[in-house]
Amino acid sequence: MSTPLTMQDWQTKAQQLEINGRAFIDGKYQWAAEGQTFDCISPIDGQVLAKVASCTDTDARHAVSNCRQAFESGVWAKQSPVRRKQVMIRFAQLLEQHAQTLALLETLDMGKPIRDSLAVDVASAARALRWSGEAIDKIYDEIAPTADNEIGMITREPIGVVVAIVPWNFPLLMACWKLGPALAAGNSVVLKPSEKSPLTAIYMAQLAIEAGIPAGVLNVLPGFGHTVGKALALHMDVDTLVFTGSTKIAKQLMIYAGESNMKRVWLEAGGKSPHIIFNDAPDLKAAAAAAASAIAFNQGEVCTAGSRLLVESGVRHQVIELIKAEFAAWQPGHPLDPNTTSGALVDKQHLQSVLKFIEVGKEEGASLVCGGEQQLAATGGMYVAPTLFSDVSNKMRIAQEEIFGPVLSVISFDGMEEAIAIANDSIYGLAAGVWTADLSKAHKTAKRLRTGMVWINHYDGGDMTAPFGGYKQSGNGRDKSLHAFDKYTEIKATWIAL
Ligand code: NAD
Ligand code: MN
Repeated sequence: MSTPLTMQDWQTKAQQLEINGRAFIDGKYQWAAEGQTFDCISPIDGQVLAKVASCTDTDARHAVSNCRQAFESGVWAKQSPVRRKQVMIRFAQLLEQHAQTLALLETLDMGKPIRDSLAVDVASAARALRWSGEAIDKIYDEIAPTADNEIGMITREPIGVVVAIVPWNFPLLMACWKLGPALAAGNSVVLKPSEKSPLTAIYMAQLAIEAGIPAGVLNVLPGFGHTVGKALALHMDVDTLVFTGSTKIAKQLMIYAGESNMKRVWLEAGGKSPHIIFNDAPDLKAAAAAAASAIAFNQGEVCTAGSRLLVESGVRHQVIELIKAEFAAWQPGHPLDPNTTSGALVDKQHLQSVLKFIEVGKEEGASLVCGGEQQLAATGGMYVAPTLFSDVSNKMRIAQEEIFGPVLSVISFDGMEEAIAIANDSIYGLAAGVWTADLSKAHKTAKRLRTGMVWINHYDGGDMTAPFGGYKQSGNGRDKSLHAFDKYTEIKATWIAL
């Protein structure tokens, strides 16, 4: 093992970094056809990192037709699963070999702590590619239970051209949750990263080629949602659109699909996840630590953030005091300092939106317990202290709307029925946490929560082996696990008369 890098080392690396801002089509980096660019700004200090290609519908058409050609040629889709597996594993290894550069790009671009970029984003992204690759030569097709004079074969085929539109909070990881199963299953993919965090997607494209993914099978188009994103979503020759991002845009994408070719649309959208602490929680200190981490990790820019903390009234006072203490470990710091736990919010616009929500909470009559302020403003960066509101009612905007920052609302309740009613009173249904030592109560509550994920006596667990996604307006379909392959394959029934 090499010794961990210091902040000075990371800063030196950042100065030496040559940042590539071009699109990637047919195995080659290129500027947008119409020549536009936009400035990629670091939220660490507000400085311009690079000029990035601002792709338009011209690039969308070019990239989709190139993906179509690659798909129809069979150069990837008709490779044996074992061959595709080997390439995907090589792709994962290359991510690991380039981990420092990818982590540095991620941190500079969107402000998260470098230690998370390395240990969470890049590591989990590589795992997603490897796991999906390893799975693909172990998935069998089916034979239907038919009469003796016929055979019914049920086979899965790659679906064709997939467009993946991803957000900025875990840019590389959200991309790889899609690319892993999409590529392993034999599809060709156009990846559209967020305009707020395009750099790792661009960098990764060359690694795909180096791993052995043929040119045209993975194209990357940086640019804005309302330009290149919309053009891709409306394109008549895209078979499937997979998305992670806000509920607002998710709904728009369903409209685009209906207005164009009825491409399949799979959505991972927003959340306002309830985190329930009952009076009989087995370990209140652990629950408070989990509650703090659930809202402060990644600056609260997490779709599964435990942003509504439902606390039973008997332990309310104690839990609030414990969380205040836990927040000391989550004060913002320089993202390139390896000791930093909480970095910068993604950009100025988002900083202002989070600060606005804090004002809204005060106006609605919630009690501000701690935080609530911008931090480190002299650096030019976008930092907010972890913020705790108590006396929140679930009707308030800060309890209903996704803030996507380090702002936690404490709502108190009495008894399981009230906890479940408040928890389910949301347009979202992504995740939930439950703390109780009562096994029966834990299971009863988990069953009645209308969410895609439930964590009992911890928060935010997960692995490639289990599906990720939500109920209600948090989306449809699932990332991760074998269920993810449903999004990237069509099912064919073939009947043979004997
Ligand atoms: P966003 O919806 O604003 O943008 C997501 C992507 O959509 C970006 O690439 C953007 O350019 C693109 N886009 C925007 N308008 C478009 C349009 N008209 N047509 C096509 N594409 C368009 O979301 P964001 O701010 O980047 O990300 C934050 C959101 O993502 C939060 O709501 C969060 O909860 C959600 N999220 C969900 C999950 C999950 O798995 N459920 C994971 C991470 C983030
Ligand atoms: Mn950025």
